[in-house]
Amino acid sequence: MDFAFKNSFRENMQAFFAPAEAEKPSAPELLIINHTFARRLGITPGSANDGELARIFVGDQMPKGSAPLALPYAGHQFGHFSPQLGDGRALLLGEIITPDGARFDIQLKGSGPTPFSRNGDGKAALGPVLREYLVSEAMAAMGVPTTRSLAAVATGDRVQRERSHPGAVLTRVASSHIRVGTFQFFAAHFGVDHVVKLSDYTIWRHWPELAAAANPHLALLERVIGLQCELVARWMGVGFVHGVMNTDNVAICGETLDYGPCAFMDRFAVNTVFSSIDTNGRYAYGRQPQITHWNMARFAEAMLPAIHAVEPADVDAAKALVDAIPARFRAIWLSELRAKLGLGKPHKDDEKLIDSLFGELEQHSVDFTSFFRALAQLLRGDGDMLQSLLPDAEAMAPWIADWWAQLEREAIAPLERADAMDAVNPLYIPRNHQVEAALIAAEEGDMAPWHALLEVVQNPYVHRPEWDVYAHPAPEDAAPHVTFCGT
Ligand code: AMP
Ligand code: MG
Repeated sequence: MDFAFKNSFRENMQAFFAPAEAEKPSAPELLIINHTFARRLGITPGSANDGELARIFVGDQMPKGSAPLALPYAGHQFGHFSPQLGDGRALLLGEIITPDGARFDIQLKGSGPTPFSRNGDGKAALGPVLREYLVSEAMAAMGVPTTRSLAAVATGDRVQRERSHPGAVLTRVASSHIRVGTFQFFAAHFGVDHVVKLSDYTIWRHWPELAAAANPHLALLERVIGLQCELVARWMGVGFVHGVMNTDNVAICGETLDYGPCAFMDRFAVNTVFSSIDTNGRYAYGRQPQITHWNMARFAEAMLPAIHAVEPADVDAAKALVDAIPARFRAIWLSELRAKLGLGKPHKDDEKLIDSLFGELEQHSVDFTSFFRALAQLLRGDGDMLQSLLPDAEAMAPWIADWWAQLEREAIAPLERADAMDAVNPLYIPRNHQVEAALIAAEEGDMAPWHALLEVVQNPYVHRPEWDVYAHPAPEDAAPHVTFCGT
C-alpha cells in the first residue's frame, strides 16, 4: 500500500501537538475499505491483501512516512468552557496530497489512548464506527461538506461502555482537523503569538489567497463564518440534526465533524432532538443557525487578539461580521430552499412561501425527505405520493396552490423542473430505524444489512423500486429515536 505522507503540522507547529502511538489490537479484521475515495486520495492498495490493509488501518503497522500525533483543543460544551480537551481517541497519522493537489489529514479513531485521553480508554466500539462511516458517506453522496471515512477495522478486542462491545477503528479523513476549539485552546493557554501562528498555518493550508488580505486573520474569520453558514444550511436542507455542536466539534475547514449523536429527522418538527444528553434542546434542528452564530462569536473571541495585533480598528469589523451572521445565514437558507422547491430566480413572495412551509409540515407531521420528492412527482402529474404523506386531501392545499403559482412566474417545463428538484432532494437518507437495525445485525456478526444500506445511501437521488423500503420513515408508533455521544 502506497502512502506518500506529508507532516506539515508536525514540522511547522512544534508545541501544538503531542506525539502518540496506536495500541496493538489482538486480531484486526478489515470490515471495509472505501476504494472509490482511496482512489481520489491517490492511495493505491497495490498488492496489499486484506490482512495488511487491516494492520495499516488499525494502527498496527505504521505506513511509511507517518509520524503519529494527537492535538490538544478546548471547547464550549453545551455552553460551558472546557479548557482542556483533545484527541483522546484519535491519532493523526499524517497528511496526504491527492493527485489534484488537495491535502487531507488521515486520522485513526479508536486506536487507543493518547496524552489527551484523561480517563478515557481511547477506544471505539463497532456500532458507532459503522454509524459514522455510513452517515459521513451518505453526507458526501448528498454533496454536504464532511469528513470522510476511508476504512473500518474490527480490533478483535472488547470495549467496555454501559456493556461490553466489539472494538473497531475508523479511518477518518478531513481537509484538516483544526477546530474552533483548537484556536480556543491556544488563545486560552498561550496568547496571541500562538493564535497568530495557528491562523497563519490554517491560511497557508486552506486558503493561501487570504495571506494577501490587509488583515489575514480577519479574512480567515470571514471565510470560516461563510463556510459554517453554508454547512448548516445544507444540514438543515436534508433534515440533519448534528446533535453536539460544541465548539470543539466545529471544523475550521467547514466539513461536518463528529458523527456521535447526529440523526436525520423523519416527520418534520422544528424542535427535533435525538441526543440523550441534550435535555434542553440546545442543539435541536431549528436552533442550529442560532448555535452557529454563537459558536462563531466564540471563534471571533479567540481570533480577536490576532486581528487586533494587525489593526486595532479591525476588532469592530470582526464584531460586524459576527452581527451579520443571521442575515447571512438567512440568505443562504433561502437559496437552499428555493432549489429544493424548484423555484428559480429569487422573488419577493418566496420568503413567505418558504417560511410558511415549516409550520405546515409540522402541523401535518409530514416526512421531511419524502415531501420534496412528492412535489416533483406532482409536477410529473402524479399526486399519489403527496397524498400518501398527508392526513387528508385538503391538508396543505392552500400552500400547494401558492407554490404552484410561484412556479408559474417562470416558464420552465414541469418535467425539467421536476428533474432539477430530484437532483437536489435526496430520496434515500440514513433513516434512523434502518441504521439501528443494520448496526444491531453487525454487532451480531452479520454485516450484510449494513453493506446494503451503505449502497443505498451512497446513491441518494435516483429512484430504484427495489429500494422502496429504504425510502420510508419508521412506523408512526415506533419509539422515539435516541442517540448517544461517543464512539
Ligand atoms: P467527543 O464526544 O468526540 O466530541 O469528545 C469530547 C472529548 O472527550 C474529546 O476531548 C475526546 O477526545 C474525549 N473522549 C471521548 N471519548 C473518549 C474515549 N473513549 N477515550 C478518550 N477520550 C475520549
Ligand atoms: Mg468531538
